[in-house]
Amino acid sequence: MIFTSLGASEEIGASCHYIKIDGTGILLDAGADPEKEGLESVPDLQRILQNPDWPVDHVIVSHAHHDHLGSLPVVVKLFPHAHIHMTAATRALADILLPASARLQRRKVEEGTSTVDPLFEEDDVHACSHLYQAHELETEFDLSGLKGKYTIEGELYDAGHVLGSVGVHITWYEGGKERTLFFTGDTGLRNQTIIPGATYPDGPVDIMLLESTLGADPDAEKFERKNEEKRLGKAIAKVLKRGGAVLLPVFSLGRSQEMLALIERYKNRGLIDDDVPVYTAGMMRAISDAYDKNRYNTPRLDEEFQVFGVKQRRLPRTDGALREVLKQPCIMAVGSGMMFDRTISNKIAQMLVENEKNGIFLVGYSRDDAPASLMADARQSGKGNLVTLSKNKGPQPINCSVDRFRFSGHSNRRDLLALVDMMEPETIILVHGEKAAKDWMSDNIKFFYPEITVLQPAANDVVEV
Ligand SMILES: [Zn+2]
Ligand SMILES: [Zn+2]
Repeated sequence: MIFTSLGASEEIGASCHYIKIDGTGILLDAGADPEKEGLESVPDLQRILQNPDWPVDHVIVSHAHHDHLGSLPVVVKLFPHAHIHMTAATRALADILLPASARLQRRKVEEGTSTVDPLFEEDDVHACSHLYQAHELETEFDLSGLKGKYTIEGELYDAGHVLGSVGVHITWYEGGKERTLFFTGDTGLRNQTIIPGATYPDGPVDIMLLESTLGADPDAEKFERKNEEKRLGKAIAKVLKRGGAVLLPVFSLGRSQEMLALIERYKNRGLIDDDVPVYTAGMMRAISDAYDKNRYNTPRLDEEFQVFGVKQRRLPRTDGALREVLKQPCIMAVGSGMMFDRTISNKIAQMLVENEKNGIFLVGYSRDDAPASLMADARQSGKGNLVTLSKNKGPQPINCSVDRFRFSGHSNRRDLLALVDMMEPETIILVHGEKAAKDWMSDNIKFFYPEITVLQPAANDVVEV
């Protein structure tokens, strides 16, 4: 088998890996780099096109986050005969997220905030949607290729990361000998609030493609979800009690739904008043609907729980009405998670930040240079420090409460090592992580499991296993 990464190799970037088993070519993920635009954000598919020996027979999408799915329409256009595989839930999410991505790219060009052409239009995306083949978890499907000698089978396993997320198990027979590969996708080995931790197959496997997102994050091991849950509940209750408004900047897929479930839990336990209004907005509402519609066919901690069973109101459309709402105790769970300029969470943060009775609580990952991080860092060194959330508004004093909470949908690095222990791979190829993260993973795997071969290929490396 040969392996090469087409997306970034020393940063998170776009997840997209090419494997060739005998004559069969398979793409694992078709992500786009969220930090880049246009063709720059797309994995290096040219490397495949330039190589006549590298067919693409199948594409498997592990989950619907942009860095795993965002280039799929481009891949479909370039390899129109390829079979596209995912879970039914991921297909439902792709049908929401890819058209939204097309509209956003178009709008940026029209507003003059982007100079690059959109990668695809909404019509293109609708046209390729019927090509997606949905598979049940732990059910074999055919991955044999046109020019391949071997029969190849795929099987999807719940990855516990977001709705529909899976790891991919691939089996083939080489000279009568069974060979196996497991691609973890993004992993969440522990229960969240709505979705349970991953159910991966037992080992051994020959080759494991292991994500390493949190490999360089020693803090992630120290946080217990239960404690963070309690700490956040108390922080929200305190703000509401003093008459303030709470802002939870969230990503629309995953964290928003998990937060709404948590708010319901706080209300049921009497920690916060049942009457406190909760506001949601934008695409997260469509995604919540997909969470609800797929509640019987995807793993759940409580399959009766519905995100829209949590009482929530649509965010007021005008700034005037929004200001009125924010004068009363309320909870705003809105995007973007990093509070980028010109997003709803950024606008609300501008309205809340100067009043000490309010609270802004970060519950997801934020890049160091994003407004959410800038605000949290400035507030940490003292109340009243200035932050520029928006260039138009200019610097504002941070008088409200600001705090960070850890609710990762990713496994911490000790859990990743436990996964290695469970799956007993012969060879590990580290993927989807910054260099420092992969280095830590590599050092520790080599230390604890010296019998395992660990590979950390660079972007253009082609590895033969
Ligand atoms: Zn993800
Ligand atoms: Zn990812």
